[in-house]
Amino acid sequence: MSVENVETLVVGGGQAGLAMSEHLSSRGVSHLVVERHRIAERWRTERWDSLVANGPAWHDRFPNMKFSDIDLDAFAPKERVADYFVAYARQIAAPIRCGVEVKALHKKADGSGFRAETAAGVIEAKKVVLATGPFQRPVIPAVVPAEAGITQIHSNAYRNPRQLPEGAVLVVGAGSSGVQIADELQRSGRKVYLSVGPHNKPPRRYRGKDFVWWLGVLGLWDVKTPDPSMEHTTIAVSGAYGGNTVDFRQLAADGMTLLGRAETFKDGVMHFAPDLKKNIHRGDADYLSVLDAADAYAVREGLDLPEEPEARRIAPDPRCVVDPILQINMRDAGITSIVWATGYALDFSWVRIDAFDERGRPKHDRGVSTVPGLYFLGLPWLSRRASSFIWGVWQDAKYLADHIAT
Ligand SMILES: Cc1cc2nc3c(=O)[nH]c(=O)nc-3n(C[C@H](O)[C@H](O)[C@H](O)COP(=O)(O)OP(=O)(O)OC[C@H]3O[C@@H](n4cnc5c(N)ncnc54)[C@H](O)[C@@H]3O)c2cc1C
Repeated sequence: MSVENVETLVVGGGQAGLAMSEHLSSRGVSHLVVERHRIAERWRTERWDSLVANGPAWHDRFPNMKFSDIDLDAFAPKERVADYFVAYARQIAAPIRCGVEVKALHKKADGSGFRAETAAGVIEAKKVVLATGPFQRPVIPAVVPAEAGITQIHSNAYRNPRQLPEGAVLVVGAGSSGVQIADELQRSGRKVYLSVGPHNKPPRRYRGKDFVWWLGVLGLWDVKTPDPSMEHTTIAVSGAYGGNTVDFRQLAADGMTLLGRAETFKDGVMHFAPDLKKNIHRGDADYLSVLDAADAYAVREGLDLPEEPEARRIAPDPRCVVDPILQINMRDAGITSIVWATGYALDFSWVRIDAFDERGRPKHDRGVSTVPGLYFLGLPWLSRRASSFIWGVWQDAKYLADHIAT
């Protein structure tokens, strides 16, 4: 088997791998990026057809390349996001090799670096950056058995409403994925049930500025460590249909049935926690806290932004919130499919190195692993809230490149 030697090996050719390549090149560090499929593959084949970026084109990009032919305030369709990264790789002449999957990564026996096994041979490297994504393995909770006769898919396998069998749909999870998929299904004429857990819900725009701008000036993208309740709190935002604040009350007024957290399934009946009202009101509180912080910032900085008192008007709770449904007989309700928008787990099972805690989480400080020469990039909260997003991974890559170069 052939053995190739490189100084630094970057595994993964998504936004994180490319940001890493950019910063390594600018510091003169010789490296190779390997990607098992194509550049930014997840944007092409692991997301639904109509997905657009959650942030506007002026924001969801790297600092040194704009989207071409997209209005700065518009939301780039997912294929355009993938095309953007392909063009970016070309712009920086990234040394990237596609179609190469690292099947196993070991420390070399003599301690002089790492050994990556791929189908095309072995690559040995002094340093390795693992940029294989914040969302690696879709998680479907073991609630409804396969033999229940209900089609079940994860949001990463959802493409469009036509893919699902006729009938009503239960969408579980009301983060950005769940809420956007539920909305699309309802607009296509389906009866939709949406199970809503705890979530944050910033306004799409306020006083003429997008929420990504507000989070920036308020320093919220840079929040360093999540408090324990925040780490798993999903954020419900959408750039779909031009970008609107996620409005659960409006979705209910349009016919959607909102439910609490999906808990158990027995004898064809799904049971839901009595927490819907709490979750909706907590989302409202988060929404209002962003308005409060934005107003205070505008006063403090003397910004002349149009006031928007109507943004504080919140409609009354819909019936499904006031009088929540705690159980549903799936057959009686005509529910033939479930879309689980329930998030992802990490999967570093191919990394045969003692760099993880007992729960399989990488042990690192800002991406610098406890194993000398091994780095992680692109993980949620790697260094701050923005770490897993296009804009944030750039900063983390810069930090790691400095560490590698010195
Ligand atoms: C539905 C959805 C919408 C999102 N929308 C936005 C948005 O609008 N704006 C934003 O900023 N962020 C968004 N994100 C978050 C984040 O930007 C994306 O998840 C992004 O894909 C992360 O990029 P990455 O490079 O870190 O990881 P990935 O895109 O997951 O890239 C990792 C790459 O590594 C490759 N790989 C994995 N294992 C190996 C291996 N062993 N050998 C070789 N290659 C390997 C994979 O094929 C993949 O291409 C979204 C996430 C999701 C799930």
